[in-house]
Amino acid sequence: MAIEQLNPSLKMKKVLVLSLFLFFGLALKGFGQTVYASAKGEKYHTADCKLSGDADGMTLAAAKKAKKGACGVCKPDEHLKDKVAQCNGKTADGTRCKRMTSSSKGKCYQHSK
Ligand SMILES: [Zn+2]
Ligand SMILES: [Zn+2]
Repeated sequence: MAIEQLNPSLKMKKVLVLSLFLFFGLALKGFGQTVYASAKGEKYHTADCKLSGDADGMTLAAAKKAKKGACGVCKPDEHLKDKVAQCNGKTADGTRCKRMTSSSKGKCYQHSK
């Protein structure tokens, strides 16, 4: 594909379509991690960061591509790492819980009660 040959407005359209595709891909498949960054911001944040302001949700990949860095306050990279952690809790029969958790305690909603 020769993207260079497209005029600017077509390029914008392509970006728009691509971000829509990413959005729906995320919604449908849960593909990619969502971070929050404003268009002018140089940092990306987790959803609950007080510094994220009016930031828009985007995939972590998109934020990295836009050369945004991880926020030093909410530390999205560490937070996202937690997201893929398996629960540390044990089920009634003594085996390890198979649920995934985003909790910093490393326990799923059931075991963190
Ligand atoms: Zn932040
Ligand atoms: Zn659990």
